[in-house]
Amino acid sequence: MQSVRAYIGIGSNLDHPVAQVQHAFQALNDLPSSAGVVRSPLYCTAPVGGPPGQPDYINAVAALDTMLTPDDLLNALQALETAQGRVRAVRWGTRTLDLDVLLYGQMTRTDPWLTLPHPRLHQRAFVLHPLHDIAPLLTIPGRGMLAELLASCPPQAIARLEQLSALNF
Ligand code: ADP
Ligand code: MG
Repeated sequence: MQSVRAYIGIGSNLDHPVAQVQHAFQALNDLPSSAGVVRSPLYCTAPVGGPPGQPDYINAVAALDTMLTPDDLLNALQALETAQGRVRAVRWGTRTLDLDVLLYGQMTRTDPWLTLPHPRLHQRAFVLHPLHDIAPLLTIPGRGMLAELLASCPPQAIARLEQLSALNF
C-alpha cells in the first residue's frame, strides 16, 4: 500500500499547553507506519465556541506520510489524546490535547465518526494559518485553495509564537 499525506490539527489549553503540543509532535513522529513528519510553528489563539472563560489555546498543525487507514489514524490520535490526559466532557471545552484529522490525502467522506476534510477546517484561522505555513499550495477538497480560504476566513485573535525557520521537535 502506498502512503498518504495526512494533516493533523493540534490544540491544547490545559496543563502546560506548549509542552502538550510539543509532546504531541514527538508522539506523531513515533506513530507506527508513518514517516516524514513536518510541524508548523506554534500559535496562541483565543478560544472559538465552547463555554465562556476558557484559557487561550496553543495550536499547530503537523503533516505526515502514513500507511494507516483513516480510521486507524483517528483511533491512534484518540489514543494519544487519552495518553496525554484528555477527559472528554464538554464539547469544545478545555482540553489537554485535541488531535483532528484535517486532511487524509484528497479523501472526502461525511461519516460523523470521521468526516474528511475536517468539517470546520475552512472556517478556522487557528487551523488555516499553521496549515498554510507548512503547505501553502494545498487545495482543500470541496472548499478550494488554502490561500483563498485563509484570506476570507472570519477574523480571530491569533499570534504566531515562532519563526518559520528553525523548527524542530
Ligand atoms: P472537536 O475536535 O470538534 O473539538 P472532539 O475532539 O471531541 O471535538 O471530537 C468529536 C468527535 O468528532 C470525535 O469523537 C470524532 O469521532 C469526530 N470526528 C469527525 N470528523 C473528525 C475529524 N476529521 N478529525 C477528528 N475527529 C473527527
Ligand atoms: Mg477533536
